[in-house]
Amino acid sequence: MQFHLNGFRTDDPTIEPTAEGAPRVDMPDAVDVLIVGSGPAGLVLAAQLPQFPSVTTRIVERRAGPLLMGQADGVACRTVEMFNAFGLGERLLREAYWVNETVFWRPDADNRGAIRRTGRVQDTETGMSEFPHVIVNQARIQEYLLDLMRRSAQRLEPDYGLELVDLQRDDTNDYPLRVTLRRTDGAGAGEDVTVRARYVVGCDGARSRVRATIGQTLNGDAANHAWGVMDALAVTDFPDIRLKAAIQSASKGNLLIIPREGGYLVRFYVDLGDVTPENRDSIKQLKVERIIETAQKILHPYSLDVKEVAWFSVYEVGQRLTDRFDDAIAADGEVREPRVFIAGDACHTHSAKAGQGMNVSMQDGFNLGWKLGAVLQGRSDASLLRTYSDERQPVAQELIDFDKEWSAMMAAPPKDPERPEAGGVDPAELQAYFVRAGRYTAGVATRYRSGALTGEATYQSLASGFTIGTRFHSSPVVRIADAKPMHLGHAARADGRWRLYAFSDASGNALEALCEHLATSPESIVRLATPDGADADSVFDLRAVLQKPHREVRLEDLPASLLPRKGRYGLIDYEKAFTCDASTDIFDERGIDRERGALVVVRPDQYVAHVLPLDALAELNAFLRPIFRTDLSSRNR
Ligand SMILES: Cc1cc2nc3c(=O)[nH]c(=O)nc-3n(C[C@H](O)[C@H](O)[C@H](O)COP(=O)(O)OP(=O)(O)OC[C@H]3O[C@@H](n4cnc5c(N)ncnc54)[C@H](O)[C@@H]3O)c2cc1C
Repeated sequence: MQFHLNGFRTDDPTIEPTAEGAPRVDMPDAVDVLIVGSGPAGLVLAAQLPQFPSVTTRIVERRAGPLLMGQADGVACRTVEMFNAFGLGERLLREAYWVNETVFWRPDADNRGAIRRTGRVQDTETGMSEFPHVIVNQARIQEYLLDLMRRSAQRLEPDYGLELVDLQRDDTNDYPLRVTLRRTDGAGAGEDVTVRARYVVGCDGARSRVRATIGQTLNGDAANHAWGVMDALAVTDFPDIRLKAAIQSASKGNLLIIPREGGYLVRFYVDLGDVTPENRDSIKQLKVERIIETAQKILHPYSLDVKEVAWFSVYEVGQRLTDRFDDAIAADGEVREPRVFIAGDACHTHSAKAGQGMNVSMQDGFNLGWKLGAVLQGRSDASLLRTYSDERQPVAQELIDFDKEWSAMMAAPPKDPERPEAGGVDPAELQAYFVRAGRYTAGVATRYRSGALTGEATYQSLASGFTIGTRFHSSPVVRIADAKPMHLGHAARADGRWRLYAFSDASGNALEALCEHLATSPESIVRLATPDGADADSVFDLRAVLQKPHREVRLEDLPASLLPRKGRYGLIDYEKAFTCDASTDIFDERGIDRERGALVVVRPDQYVAHVLPLDALAELNAFLRPIFRTDLSSRNR
């Protein structure tokens, strides 16, 4: 990490100096962004917005304090990548359980009353991400994000015990949203507080009140599916208790075992089937003893002696989705700029089996955060915010389609070779599907369609491994200035900046010309979009990867824009130029054209926006100019 830019400091560099301004007040009359709900979606958004110092943010939560246990626990590889950009990767990886392998158990062919292991697969395909799939309690995930918020310049903390009860929009006001909040806790419980906001983001879960105020409804399966979920400390002779295990018994049901952080805790998911009007009450009233008993029967002939249940719930969920994730279409059909957004479970719900709920919810927050920051800072036009619903709604639809298929397979009974006519799923088929579906469960299958923020694939062949519309798939490199082996993608923080990764051509001439253009041309988008007085890389962070071994590169020969002068002392940033790693050549790994090189444009949420030739300056401008306001710089006046 980089620090000391504006002077030597002796304090913890992970804590930002406090922002200037009024001390924290109860609830101001007006804020730029009001986030409703401090679940994973709301907290990812709240952890990102303080990166934009001029933007005022508040987050309200109806609960009296933070979540302490339970709910989701699977953290997909893609989410770990995002956490790393927040500076939280190491902490998460240190604490979490790593899902390295998954095992499959089914009825023993010779004794169908017992189970036996039938398959063992690597959990995630080699090379899909530099990070593993991990498991950690949602409450801990939320605590990491809360901690990051506390360390931000704004020292942001949720306002607990406040619930949104009403929301009105009046476009004639500078702060068009009038929000009524009700105190749910303490002496003032029941009192109403009014706050005005420029934007409201409803991260208020599956029963979202914000969603109701904008007239959206969750559509989809009428029936919910129920799972008995239990986090337990237990003694067992089942040998795969520290592996993720999908177990199908012949007649006692299905069980999913998820080992948890800390080495001893285990989560058990018992499938309770679809909820119908007839069985709803009995399912809801199910006691933990029944879950334990069912798990014991499924695990037969192995024993399970539960010593302590840390958390238990009957989690009931259907796969549902709203048509839009914003209020861009008014009740009378008029199209307008969106002011209210919904994210996470408020706009899509998933089964627990595919582990999508928390992960997709956090990616919603990541997608929206930088866009709100850019618009509120005046760097982009408000129309940028339309892309949030346009991008995230189809992604949620795709994941729900996958989730339906996957959970139906997991819930089906195993096929009996003696009675094939009885139907069911062949366990070999289930295992093969699990492997094929790996990219979805890892969260790396998301691909945004071409549009305002996603270029056409005309030059995709110049960098075939950086697929336009998908997340930037990092690879090892060596930083030239200090010979540090590192991942190229890890230099990028969740700070709202765009990245321009320039992979050098064979001669280096095209790279040099690009650097010269970006730094000096009156047409340079970097110059036009960067406000006066701001560091040269405050909007676009240019990084270059050269082809020569690092010892053959002379630092003094690098173009000036790869050694930018920054901060109040004009210190030199030495961390912009890289070469190939000796063992993993990024040009080979990501299919980069060695002769021509490539320019890979990456959005602040780590998605590849475009791949262009290094000399395609007109195309670069044509793509980026509509995204940015270019009247901020005197260079354009
Ligand atoms: C009880 C429960 C058990 C779950 N169990 C599992 C599981 O076992 N496995 C799994 O994969 N997933 C599980 N999930 C789903 C997973 O937790 C969600 O997919 C994920 O938390 C979605 O994140 P979110 O931020 O969108 O919403 P949530 O995590 O639901 O957060 C919404 C937040 O908004 C707050 N809120 C709601 N209304 C208001 C309001 N009007 N004003 C202010 N605040 C409000 C809520 O108190 C809550 O803190 C469970 C969810 C719940 C609710």
